[in-house]
Amino acid sequence: MGGPACLDFVNTLDDRFSAESKELLQHYVDLARFAEDTRILSDLQVDRLMTRSMQRPEEAKRALASAIQLREAISEIFYALVRRKPVPAASLVILNQHVQEAAQHLALAAGRRHFEWKFESDSYDLFAPLWPIARDAAELLASERVEYVRACASKTCEWLFLDESKNHRRRWCDMTKCGNRAKVRRFYTRNKKTAVP
Ligand SMILES: [Zn+2]
Repeated sequence: MGGPACLDFVNTLDDRFSAESKELLQHYVDLARFAEDTRILSDLQVDRLMTRSMQRPEEAKRALASAIQLREAISEIFYALVRRKPVPAASLVILNQHVQEAAQHLALAAGRRHFEWKFESDSYDLFAPLWPIARDAAELLASERVEYVRACASKTCEWLFLDESKNHRRRWCDMTKCGNRAKVRRFYTRNKKTAVP
């Protein structure tokens, strides 16, 4: 979706609140592809991790399970905030564990105008995709932008997104995906009503 990676990550359990939720992270390669699509890792690093995951399937399985644990913790926290409910303490503990683990792989690197925080880019660690996601969630939670995190108004969607519109009144994850569908539905119900004598 191009929003904060941590929110897009939560959306990888599609139709999360329906009886037929769809797990988009079935295998380690799905996690690697997510890292590639969201540009949280370089293409080179993603290639390396894909190769590595085939050489070490057990480790890849553990990394994927850990990624899903992180995702569910992030999900619980943000949906609690969106619904103005208390944030589950256990989820915050899990996120903090991941954030601290991520910090072990973070270092200052010289940038063009100032130094930058960078994760080890030459790492073959299969857990590498989790680090920028955990950090992204922590940064979003610690920023003022957190109040603009929304869940899509479509009841069958409820994807998380960051509402960066000017008046902060965006309701749909994507106007073309959910917004139009809702519009079409409204149009039909209206016409049906007027057609009834
Ligand atoms: Zn939506």
